[in-house]
Parts: sequence; C-alpha cells; structure tokens
Amino acid sequence: ASRFKDKKVALFGLGGSGLATAHALVAGGADLIASDDNPDSVAKAASEGVGTGDLHNIDWAGLAAFVLSPGVPLTHPKPHWSVDLARAAAVEIIGDVELFSRERAALAPSAPLVAVTGTNGKSTTTALISHMLKSAGRDTQMGGNIGRAVLTLEPVEPARHYVIECSSYQIDLAPTLKPSCGILLNLTPDHLDRHGTMAHYAEIKERLVANSDLAIVGVDDTWCADIAQRLERAGRRVARISARLPLTDGYFASGLSLCHARGGQVEIVGTLEGVGSLRGRHNAQNALAAIAACREVGLSHAEIQAGLSSFKGLAHRMEQVGRKGNVLFVNDSKATNAEASAPALASFETIYWIVGGLPKQGGIESLRPLFDRVKRAYLIGEAAPAFSATLGDAVPFEISGTLEAALAHAARDAAGSKEEGEAVVLLSPACASFDQFRNFEVRGEAFRKAVSAIEDIEMMGA
Ligand code: ADP
Repeated sequence: ASRFKDKKVALFGLGGSGLATAHALVAGGADLIASDDNPDSVAKAASEGVGTGDLHNIDWAGLAAFVLSPGVPLTHPKPHWSVDLARAAAVEIIGDVELFSRERAALAPSAPLVAVTGTNGKSTTTALISHMLKSAGRDTQMGGNIGRAVLTLEPVEPARHYVIECSSYQIDLAPTLKPSCGILLNLTPDHLDRHGTMAHYAEIKERLVANSDLAIVGVDDTWCADIAQRLERAGRRVARISARLPLTDGYFASGLSLCHARGGQVEIVGTLEGVGSLRGRHNAQNALAAIAACREVGLSHAEIQAGLSSFKGLAHRMEQVGRKGNVLFVNDSKATNAEASAPALASFETIYWIVGGLPKQGGIESLRPLFDRVKRAYLIGEAAPAFSATLGDAVPFEISGTLEAALAHAARDAAGSKEEGEAVVLLSPACASFDQFRNFEVRGEAFRKAVSAIEDIEMMGA
C-alpha cells in the first residue's frame, strides 16, 4: 500500500475488510479519509487512528484513488452515493484486491498468484491450495475473503506464493488483476441482488480467468462451460474441470480417483480415498481445481497427494466433529440456505437432520429430491412451522426447538439406527442463524460443544 504514500485517498466501507484496507493504506503513508454510512464503524476506525470524515465535502478531483469496500453497491440496484461522487470527478474506483495486485506487480511480478472465484466452494478450494503448497514446503500466504485481508499480504520476489479468494465484488473492482492461475469453479444464480442479471454476474467472474496465465474452469454448469469454450477459442490456456463427466482433455473425477486426460492418455493425479474432509461430488470439483493449480506451480504427484490426505477441511462446512461407534456428527452450519444444504444431504446415505433457524424464501422445498436419505428431521428455530409443512408425510420429524434438544434426540435415534453403514447426525440448517445465534460460526461452535458433551464421544479435528 506504500504506492499511495503521501497521496490523497478516500475509502468508503469500514466493515472488516474495509477497516483492514484502511489500516494498510495508513501504514503505507497514504493521506487517507475514510467513511461509512454506519456511525459505529466510523467511530471504531477513528479510535484506531484511521482518518475519517464526511466524503460529501472533500475535494474529489484531488484524490489519487477512491477505494470501495466489496459489498458496497457499484452498479446494482443503484450505485452508492460515493460512487456517484467519484464518477462525477473521474476518480478511479478500486478495491483491496486491486491495491494488492498493483503492489505485487511492482514488488513481486513473478511470485505465483492463484486467485479463486465461483459461486460455491471458494473458501474450501482456497484453503486446500494453500494447505497443499504449505505442506510441500512452499512459502505461502492466503488471503481475501478467507485468511488475511488481501492488503496485509507481503509481496516477496520471486518465491512467495499467494492464494486469494475473490468475490465477484472484488473482481469488479480489480481491473489489473492478472493471476498466474485463475480458478472459476462454478456459476449458479446468487448475488443477483447486487449484479442485476446472471449475464452480468458471469461476465465479472469471467474477467478473472480471462486475465490469467492459466484459466482453470469447472465445466459442469452451462455458464462456465461457455466461458471455457470462449477462452479456448481465443487461444488462452484452459484447464477444464469436471466432477460429473470424464473429459478427453482436462481434469475429472472417476469414483474417488482424480484423473487428468490429455492426448489420449489418462493419468491418475490423486485420490480422495480416505479423505474425510473432502466428501461429496462438490468437493471433488474443489480438489480437481486445487490439483490443477498445484501442478501448474510445479508440485509433484507425491506432494499433491500428501496435501490432499492431510487436509482438515474448513470449520462449519460439512465438518466432521465427532464419532461415536457407527454415528458420525457433522457440522454444516455454513449452509444458510437450501442450495447450500444440498451437497451435505447428497453426501450421506443415512441422515438424522437438524434443520431450521431463520428461513429464507423458498424454504427447503428444493431439497425434496434428497428427502429419502433423511431418516428423521429435528426442527429448530423460527422455521419449524414452515418446514414441518414441507416435510409433511415425506419425512418423519419432530419440532425440537433448540439445537441442544435436537442434537440429544438425533444422537439417540442415530445410535439406534437399523440401517447398514454409517449413520450421520447432520446440522445443515438451510437457514440463517440470527433467530437463535449471532452468526453461523457461533451456531456451529454451539453444535461442536454440545457434541463434545456426549458420553464416550471421540472428537475429531481442531
Ligand atoms: P464459498 O467460499 O464459495 O462460500 P465454501 O467453500 O465456504 O464456499 O463452501 C460453502 C458451502 O458450499 C459448503 O458447505 C458446501 O455445502 C457448498 N460447496 C462447497 N464447494 C462446492 C462446489 N464446488 N459446488 C457446489 N457447492 C459447493
């Protein structure tokens, strides 16, 4: 951030990443004025030594840059007022990833940079790549929406590796971002509130891979398949990823084997056998993308497999927290809507499902095709009346009320399961948490704590 030393910079948006960006700019000697529509955020920043003030009354034309936090509307439904002011004064509008990108271009242009985007799986894939690089002994820093704020990463030429997770908001504000490997995992309708149309959302995500030396693109949805084809036609290097179908050129999953096909040859590049943290087809997509990136930066087959096998997974995302005999306890608290719960339901056969919280539009209707895997459901929070109506005669259920009651009953029932194979007590709420918990992390921690209190439980992970 020292490239803005003594320059006038304005920043809007002092939430988590915005505040970290402000600190980095101040540390780099920028003459910063920062603001937010929330007075509490402004007060907090001011108390930490960040210069704050009213951006309505500044000399916009004299600014070197206007830094916008991801999440503040740039276009949709309408630009934030600060964006209008910046545009009127022809000041460039950039985000934290753009600042990092310029820093890297100046200080460490040949340091490998892997950037990950997509609708789902970004954090898992970013964490997996970082873990694989680190476990192979590479100097690695991870940032973006996961790990450190992007601007606190320190460029070191040429050996340090960066793995960053980019939301569409950040890509939109990072015109010069040119990763060594750009990963686009998948595209499904999401965040359309901010981006307006699916076409616009896809266009922003495409920009990341279009500017990469190697574009790693999941081709299991039509939006991404189109993007891969367009890039190939334009002569770009593309590594295709499919967790559904064998490819003749690219990375694909065959059972638990992860394969790479090229020129009529198929090579096994890894296996998910015994990798509990990467269960399910969605995680095969994440693992294949991670392997493609790690091969690009030169990791060996053995290093890649060692990294896969030792990956612990991320907390609250299909996280295996404990085991008692035949019963596995899984924390999927991050699943805050029905779509996010689908992979967990699809990954297990015999499920005792703790579900509910503050329901989203559509409820759990879209999960109906997966209901036959659910032996019994335990409803918590405000969603209970609506969800019991949806479950109807299709799935036996009880209204448990609290997470603790739901867990106690689910654990008892799962232990008595007559099904063959493992029984899974799954917290995958398909709901926001705010009716009973501060956020999904607190909900997941409450689940872990309650599981740990079960007699004779064998806890797993951190
Ligand atoms: P993100 O960072 O994009 O929100 P995460 O890695 O945090 O994604 O995963 C969040 C949830 O999304 C997981 O719990 C899982 O249910 C689902 N998920 C993960 N990877 C994928 C994928 N490749 N495709 C579809 N869904 C996925």
